[in-house]
Amino acid sequence: MGWDELRDAVSACRACDLCKQRKQAVLGVGDAHADEPFVGQAGKLLDAMLAAIDLKRGDNVYIANTVKCRPPGNRTPEPSETAACWPFLARQIALLQPKLIVALGRPAAQTLLQAEVKIGAARGQLFEHQGIPLIVSYHPAYLLRNLPDKAKAWEDLCFMRKTMKGF
Ligand code: SF4
Repeated sequence: MGWDELRDAVSACRACDLCKQRKQAVLGVGDAHADEPFVGQAGKLLDAMLAAIDLKRGDNVYIANTVKCRPPGNRTPEPSETAACWPFLARQIALLQPKLIVALGRPAAQTLLQAEVKIGAARGQLFEHQGIPLIVSYHPAYLLRNLPDKAKAWEDLCFMRKTMKGF
């Protein structure tokens, strides 16, 4: 599947219940026909975090949602939903061939590492997903609710920057 076919497949997908309330399935930044992922306050925070280390979405940074249909009330996706949507994310990764993956939040980390993950314990470590270096950090929506952990997210950004410099 190329990008166009992937976009069409996601738009037509009914593999989990999240399709019932979606307005639009969102593949990721770079998708000209869809809303962007990570909008609202969490998106603003993510952009500010990226800017702090001289990165910008759409400019050597691709942001993809773990599930392409936004869960109602922005709740955390269920494991069955992340599992149903995984083939789309897997295809995005195959097409993008990123040098580094940063998994934000537990659902993303668990999906990519196929293991139980606690962000607090896993952050600061270098993992890999099918040979691609992977680090984990907090989801911006979590950080908005847990401001003291912002300092840890900043440490994670520095770790991410350091890891990228090593390439
Ligand atoms: Fe399909 Fe993913 Fe949307 Fe579920 S969240 S309906 S698997 S595109």
